[in-house]
Amino acid sequence: MKKLTDAAALLELSRDAGLASILPRVAYRADTEEDVAAALGEAAGEGLPVTPRGAGTGIPTQSVGRGAILLQDRAAAEVRSGQVVCEPGIVKAELNRVLAGSGAWMPVDPSSYASCTVGGMVANNSSGVRTVKYGSTVDYVEGLRVAVVGEGVSAKAAVPVGEGVSLPGKDGRAVSLILENRRLISEDERKVTKNSSGYRLEKVIHDGKADLSKLFAGSEGTLGVVTQAALRTSPKPEGRLLFVVEASIEGLGGAASAFRGLGPSALELVDKSVFRVMGKWDRISKYSRSEDPYLIFCEFDGVGDDPSSRVEEVAESRAASFDPMVLSSGSEIAQAWDARNETLTLAQDIRKGSKVLVPGVEDLVAPPERLGDLVRLLVGEFEKRGLEYIMYGHAGDANLHARPLMDPSGPEGRRAIEGLMEDCFEGVWRLGGSITGEHGDGMLRAKFVERQYPKSYWIMQELKQLYDPRGLLNPGVKVVSA
Ligand SMILES: Cc1cc2nc3c(=O)[nH]c(=O)nc-3n(C[C@H](O)[C@H](O)[C@H](O)COP(=O)(O)OP(=O)(O)OC[C@H]3O[C@@H](n4cnc5c(N)ncnc54)[C@H](O)[C@@H]3O)c2cc1C
Repeated sequence: MKKLTDAAALLELSRDAGLASILPRVAYRADTEEDVAAALGEAAGEGLPVTPRGAGTGIPTQSVGRGAILLQDRAAAEVRSGQVVCEPGIVKAELNRVLAGSGAWMPVDPSSYASCTVGGMVANNSSGVRTVKYGSTVDYVEGLRVAVVGEGVSAKAAVPVGEGVSLPGKDGRAVSLILENRRLISEDERKVTKNSSGYRLEKVIHDGKADLSKLFAGSEGTLGVVTQAALRTSPKPEGRLLFVVEASIEGLGGAASAFRGLGPSALELVDKSVFRVMGKWDRISKYSRSEDPYLIFCEFDGVGDDPSSRVEEVAESRAASFDPMVLSSGSEIAQAWDARNETLTLAQDIRKGSKVLVPGVEDLVAPPERLGDLVRLLVGEFEKRGLEYIMYGHAGDANLHARPLMDPSGPEGRRAIEGLMEDCFEGVWRLGGSITGEHGDGMLRAKFVERQYPKSYWIMQELKQLYDPRGLLNPGVKVVSA
């Protein structure tokens, strides 16, 4: 294990993809599971908080901290039948390459897949463009190995419920707590297809099993450190077809709903204004036939060599009235997705003086059929404040990445951002949605989590107290101690 204390390395680790930077005191680079346990032990002995970190692409200020940063570079992946067992440092793009050799895939690709790690994806319950059909990372977790402060490393996996309540130590108590309070957990459950706010309590009891890997997945490094993840895989479907249509704000909900009914593998929203603001409109001008502000990308996979029946199906549906552009060659589809993905990279560079595109309300998710209402909510809140903004995201899941241009540097600016978050979060709760679909709560949204889960937040606090009684793991992130 290496211990890093030099100023340059610590400065590098003081930033993630969020707004705040926090200088750590030390960083550990753990080479083995034993190193992870030893690092946790040493930090605990000194009373130092520990922040596990993958690639640091987290947005809501969650992979930075004032104590010790814990890095794991181990990146091996062992392909088995229907499963891949990964070390946490493997980058998702590399995992895809490893799996491609056997014709398998794990279909969750965050837009950051070229740099984000499996450890970070598991910890955030990350999602991607294909979540509309295939679900989020938590749905692929079949087992984890996790280091808990003071406990060493142990396996977390599904066991029959009866055995779950008798698991030794903290695990048995965690299963009992969740089992006894299932009603409260289900009453607080959001009516969404993806959710990264709070712990994924609703996933722990499933198919007659108690599965604590689903609790540690999505816990943002606040309960334990993931040292290994077994992820479900399946054969990669062959042949894709992509429809691109333009949509107005008013037409968005209807267009998305028509496409969603046909079972797409991706259903995305792109804001043309990003390209305009950056002077890069020509990059996608071939998709521009009107002043409508949005493009919808709708992909179907598994269409094989002859996609004609899928084209006909879309033509006969309500979606046909939106006059789609149909792409069927692999290179054309890749080009269109590149244009979509470029929005994210371009968006990071947009600034005007001290104003930047701030996160906060950048990951709201509503029940899929409320997409139009979510768009109206965000646009209404931005326009009321006279804010310029960009908006894109996962239309099929009604999960929008909207960022207004604001100045976060002074107290006045920070108050304004907080006010916007208040109003948008109240609005998304009224729609039955969640304050974050895939990016997580981090420090940015931690104080709002209790209001999203009025009946079950105390269970999250008890679980935090159970596994991390001294509050050493990622303090201030996700769940605030009672
Ligand atoms: C341009 C851009 C696009 C993005 N697009 C998407 C997207 O499409 N979908 C999406 O879901 N997210 C997206 N994100 C957010 C982010 O990339 C993902 O959440 C990603 O999975 C984080 O991985 P990471 O390795 O960078 O983790 P980090 O940022 O290093 O860490 C994220 C969280 O996981 C914890 N953590 C990391 N490793 C471990 C571990 N081994 N054990 C326990 N906890 C751990 C950290 O403490 C932190 O709380 C995007 C971010 C950017 C900047």
